[in-house]
Amino acid sequence: MAVKGTDIKDKLPGTNCKECGMPTCFGFAMKLASGKAEPDNCPYLDPQVREELEDLLAPPMKLVTIGSGAQAVSIGEEEVMFRHEKTFFHAPGFALLISDNETEEEIAGKIKRIRELQFDRVGINLKADLLALHFTSGEVARYVALVKKVATEASDIGVVLISEDTEALLKALDAYGAEKKPLLYPVTADNIVKITEYIKEKPTPVGVKAGSVEEVAALTAKLRAAGIEEIVLDPDSKNLAEAVRDQTLIRRAALKKGFRPLGFPSITFPCFMTEEKQEEVLLAAGLIAKYAGIVVLSNMESHSIFPLLVERLNIYTDPRRPMTVEEKVYEINEPDKNAPVIVTTNFALTYFAVSSEMEISKVPSYLCIQDTEGLCVLAAWSTGKFTADTISSYIKRSGIADKISHRNLIIPGYVAQIKGELEEELPDWQIIVGAREATGIPAMLKLGVKY
Ligand code: SF4
Repeated sequence: MAVKGTDIKDKLPGTNCKECGMPTCFGFAMKLASGKAEPDNCPYLDPQVREELEDLLAPPMKLVTIGSGAQAVSIGEEEVMFRHEKTFFHAPGFALLISDNETEEEIAGKIKRIRELQFDRVGINLKADLLALHFTSGEVARYVALVKKVATEASDIGVVLISEDTEALLKALDAYGAEKKPLLYPVTADNIVKITEYIKEKPTPVGVKAGSVEEVAALTAKLRAAGIEEIVLDPDSKNLAEAVRDQTLIRRAALKKGFRPLGFPSITFPCFMTEEKQEEVLLAAGLIAKYAGIVVLSNMESHSIFPLLVERLNIYTDPRRPMTVEEKVYEINEPDKNAPVIVTTNFALTYFAVSSEMEISKVPSYLCIQDTEGLCVLAAWSTGKFTADTISSYIKRSGIADKISHRNLIIPGYVAQIKGELEEELPDWQIIVGAREATGIPAMLKLGVKY
């Protein structure tokens, strides 16, 4: 919920002394509301009012970071209900569940799998993010041993510590190290006092669990009163319908009503909602679309995690900016000086489609990717970003001429109309009109381009 200058003005001293750099207190209020000033810029604010203003001006949803260093996963700080209104900022983390009841081999296998399951798509590395360590054995020493093993052997992966036994949970926190910021889960009505005392000494994010959104809000209010703000919410939804209802309620309360006790990201457990593996993936897919901050999965296979990673990528890319790849000459299938040369735009999906088909052809070749600000071929041509003029200028600066012994350039079939003009711009080159669709590239390359 956007804060207005008029909401702030009456909280300011009203003396118009100008020391904040603005001619009036109202001017300063407007600047505060637009995020271009800090309450501290006014030296005459009552400390309590300063605190009130900081609270009022804080993002409606807190950013929570789990883990530290390169393996940290940040979730929350979202600003809109729907991606098309602006963008979603922090993609949910995928956590792989490991129970301390599993065998050594199973545990080692899961650690290995989360590391190996990485996919390159449109130049972005897609992978799961977290390990969720679940106390189920009833033996605290066994759970602590699992936590220590992960802390040592998978120190590059962030961790969620899950235990209904508070003693075991706090021992696990000590064994893992609060400085590495694991997510401690669950904080409930029964253990909130004990965990609050502990967390004040050893700060780390906490996951609050209660039987309803209202009960979750009551617990977060207590944590906030104790100065704990690194909070993740779990209203204990039992199925997808409940989860979508609860997640939507939380997001609306935070963004539309500015309700601070629910202004936090969430954790979800499709792994506990069903025992059917396929259904678990479908539940996870629904939760990614509807506001989950962390999605805990019982297992990860390439066929189950890959579609979820791609869904996450698609939802959490900025719709205001097309996805792009770097402008450069890409070498495909180890080309030599006789290899054919194709030029196209830097829209990521264009690059991905064209380079994939070139790889499939097994023909050594060069792919010259021109920066068209992420526009596809036709959009770039129609807006003057992929024309004879821009292509010739790019080909001259790309350095491709030094890599080959011929001067043949294949352009996309969709811009056949610029062939003549491009030949005038690049008089040493022969311009060949290539396939209209990427799927036509292997046949074109295998048959040999007619120069
Ligand atoms: S410094 Fe404070 S009191 Fe002075 S004009 Fe700015 S907001 Fe008003």
